[in-house]
Amino acid sequence: MRRTRVLPVLLVLLASALAACSHGTGPGGAGSTNLVIVTLDTTRADRIGCYGAKDVATPRLDALAARGARFDNAVTVAPLTLPAHCSLFTGLLPGAHGVRDNGGFKLAPEHETLAEALKAKGFATGGFVSAFVLDHRWGIAQGFDTFFDDFGLAQQGKTQFEEIQRPGNETVDRALAWIRQVKDKRFFAWVHLYDPHAPYDPPEPFRSRYPGRPYDGEIAWTDSLVGRLVDALDQEKLSGRTAIVVIADHGESLGEHGESGHGYFVYEPVARIPLILVAPFAKVGAGAVTPVVRTIDVAPTVLDLLGVPGALPKAQGRSLVPLLAGGGTGPGDGYTESFTARFHYGWSELRSVRTSSRRPAKSCTTSRRTPGRRRTSPRESRKRWSRCAPRSRSSRRPRRRREPRPRPSKRTRRRSPSSRASGTSAARRSSRGTPGRAFPTPRTGSRSTTR
Ligand SMILES: [Zn+2]
Repeated sequence: MRRTRVLPVLLVLLASALAACSHGTGPGGAGSTNLVIVTLDTTRADRIGCYGAKDVATPRLDALAARGARFDNAVTVAPLTLPAHCSLFTGLLPGAHGVRDNGGFKLAPEHETLAEALKAKGFATGGFVSAFVLDHRWGIAQGFDTFFDDFGLAQQGKTQFEEIQRPGNETVDRALAWIRQVKDKRFFAWVHLYDPHAPYDPPEPFRSRYPGRPYDGEIAWTDSLVGRLVDALDQEKLSGRTAIVVIADHGESLGEHGESGHGYFVYEPVARIPLILVAPFAKVGAGAVTPVVRTIDVAPTVLDLLGVPGALPKAQGRSLVPLLAGGGTGPGDGYTESFTARFHYGWSELRSVRTSSRRPAKSCTTSRRTPGRRRTSPRESRKRWSRCAPRSRSSRRPRRRREPRPRPSKRTRRRSPSSRASGTSAARRSSRGTPGRAFPTPRTGSRSTTR
């Protein structure tokens, strides 16, 4: 483990603050602390200044990182919006909560969420999302008193459900209005910003500032939205008693490994995510934290910080508070999976493991239909997987489930990931990264986790 800019005196201060929290005292005590989680869709860590980006201006995210902890090796569970958010809020790997793709899957009510746990502790809970892939019909709204989705499907006129979205400023407006309503209570606000997701179309002045680099323009625009949230917390005098988490659901390939967007592969551009944590009693600044941490560790961590540790008893993630206090180790290897190729092309799913040795993630695939390659037997596949599988109980291979395979259209079956990046109109549509699928028709009223 290597941590920088963490001085013993800061650890003493943090430990003292945490001790105070256990008694619910002080402005940052656990008895009064609020929680704001901002999820940045499709945001690569290396496009943010505090993560090393030299040519993208992200002053607000950089300032947050300077106030708190910046996790340098955070790993998502999947390069897909809904599975990643389900893991964020349940502390469970996709194999445990069962949501392994956008659309069609929905989080079952028996999986308790962070919002449910905090609501049970008296928190006002509000969720504000910017894309239809996180609509309430997919089960992600569990536990939220207020949930702002309302995408007006009839007016959208979109054929690809991943395209249904709203600009982040509208989401922030609604979130801030709600926070001002509930600010006298303890609250948990979740704000989801979808702007970095393709198609990249940043507003001015960000479009002009990043000519030919619209993705970077979207990142800079999103940074300004995070700044609006932080400024509002300051104006409402809530910063001193609000923990803030900023995390991406996954990154974006931007052409690396032949993938224009995200969803198929599990390489570092999509698996590594930014994660920043600012807690009012940790404002001494914990600096950079280098051990591998996972999306599933966030919920146990914030529950610990809010004074209700263990409120999600089935979570597979671990609290990172001991790590922040300098007395713990990393929670384990980072597991990432994508079942996109399996569900939509009948190919093998992909899984990777990010180890604490900081080597690039290993990828295991059986590549059943790769031309020129012989077919991999199930036994070989199991053997290959066993070399990559995490050893820890929390991240071991999910129990094998028989997933019904949706039958893609002929057009979808003919398209391959490489053809999707070919510059055709179909490829431009699919450059959003997630597969170009027909509009899903969820079984409303059903809480099944299968298609
Ligand atoms: Zn996403």
